[in-house]
Amino acid sequence: MTVTLGALNGMDRATFVELLGAVFEHSPWIAEAAWQRRPFASIDALHQAMVDTVIAAPHDKQLALLKAHPELGASKIVAEFSRREQASAGLDSARLADAAKLRNLNRTYRDRFGFPFIMAVKGKQRAEIIAAMEQRVTHAADDEFAVALDEVAKIARFRVDDILADDRAAAEPDPMAGVGAQLLDRADQLGAVTEVPGTVTRTFLTPQHREAARMVMDWMRFAGMDASMDAIGNVVGRYEGAKPGLPALLIGSHLDTVRDAGKYDGILGVLAAIACVGAMHKRNERPPFAIEVIGFGDEEGVRFQSTLLGSRAVAGTFDKTVLDRKDADGVTMREALAAFGLDPASIRMIARRRGDVLGYLELHIEQGPVLEADNLPVGIVTSIAGGTRANIDVTGMSGHAGTVPMKLRHDALAAAAEIILAIEARARDNPALVATVGRIAASPGATNVIPGKASFSLDLRSPDDATRLGAYTDIVAASQSIARKRGVTVAIDRTFESPAVACSAWLMVEIERAIAALGVTRRRLASGAGHDAMAIASLCDVGMIFVRCKGGISHNPAESITEADAEIGARVLYRVLRKFQPRDATPPRKTERAPG
Ligand SMILES: [Zn+2]
Repeated sequence: MTVTLGALNGMDRATFVELLGAVFEHSPWIAEAAWQRRPFASIDALHQAMVDTVIAAPHDKQLALLKAHPELGASKIVAEFSRREQASAGLDSARLADAAKLRNLNRTYRDRFGFPFIMAVKGKQRAEIIAAMEQRVTHAADDEFAVALDEVAKIARFRVDDILADDRAAAEPDPMAGVGAQLLDRADQLGAVTEVPGTVTRTFLTPQHREAARMVMDWMRFAGMDASMDAIGNVVGRYEGAKPGLPALLIGSHLDTVRDAGKYDGILGVLAAIACVGAMHKRNERPPFAIEVIGFGDEEGVRFQSTLLGSRAVAGTFDKTVLDRKDADGVTMREALAAFGLDPASIRMIARRRGDVLGYLELHIEQGPVLEADNLPVGIVTSIAGGTRANIDVTGMSGHAGTVPMKLRHDALAAAAEIILAIEARARDNPALVATVGRIAASPGATNVIPGKASFSLDLRSPDDATRLGAYTDIVAASQSIARKRGVTVAIDRTFESPAVACSAWLMVEIERAIAALGVTRRRLASGAGHDAMAIASLCDVGMIFVRCKGGISHNPAESITEADAEIGARVLYRVLRKFQPRDATPPRKTERAPG
């Protein structure tokens, strides 16, 4: 039986609940609440109304909902819906070994969380489901509770789709159809614009910067935007809203790359934003706000060793002293800007006023392995990690490798080794902290000489400032204690300090809603890498969408994403844009500081 949306909107309460009462784990209170929110413009809207009811429900009601789910692959009689879904994944014909494994996993899972394992299994293979169980059983209880609720929402979506036919959808072509292929194709085209043939290398204020900017401006114009380059070399495309001159929602990322880079870091976010505006343009939609897509000219800081140049200029935090920095050829940034046809004195003019900006969104590849490990195409960024960097010098006593007895040595390198292990140990047991020693040098650096000096770097990052600063204090204390014990001295020079930047809660919710509406599990994660959003956070609220990348690899030619994931990411962004409600300007939470 298929019911049309029109018929559903006209139903009385009893008929409505009879029809939809079972889709959310046989908990009719959800359909009852949804009935009051008729009429629904689409199946999406109906599903969203039901999901919102679940999200707003108290914890015990949510738990009861999860407990109402039949155990996966269990032999007991399950409701017709569940049986059909599970049979399609081959669970009913599970081999004996698999069946035992499933039973064990089910038991472990239920013991740990207090509700049965729930997964939208439609279209999934048995091995995939078992792998997901093995992974999810390791989750923290709160995280898994959220995942289980998401899965219930996904299952409900399949059931709603089974019951209803959207009598309008067929008439309206999807303006985002094929967007994944378009994004990958355009990323390939930009990837071919490189300073070093055979690699992707595109640094600030080079002919390749100009060529990439030209291509992006063409795509922007084709998507209905006015496009131009600003005084720091950013490409800016503006799509006017219902009337000209409205405050703008900014969407952006960067167009520059590191040396021998991948094709998607930064670029994907700019291309996805253009695709979304293009889809609105195709439908002749004018939102009640303007949209500005920005392709930042320099984020990576390769040429002048100063990051986030483009976004800082837009945020009004551009540091004028960097204009006198020289690149490897001795050319100052001021000279390079002039040679590019830009006026350094005009950079301060491109800083936005708070009242003109409604928020900032950035889609970016994850550059880490979390989404891949969780088998999810996209995620919601909660914060961008703050960082502390330091140089650590250990001074001991050099001496002859053959004549100085072990007991009398003050080996700087051995002391450094012990300190490095202490640094690793300090971070290892805290999932919210990472610590890296990426560089070390010993001197005099000869096979037959005890090292008198060792110098190494420290890079500490955490989404939580207190966690990071606490770890730094501990590391300083541990270094001194190790140095004392070994009769060497240690000098620690903190060279860089940048606080964590939180993504705004309301934009995270908007992104989550968009992800849930696409039937994808919502996953929040922190960003360990820096992004333009860090700089823009001093101007306005920021939100970020991460797209899964293969192996978590970036800043490398092996950077890779799938067409399907790119499409999902762009669709999430598109949905956020279309649902976006301008808010009154809120004061920014944090000011991003210039790194050293
Ligand atoms: Zn990037």
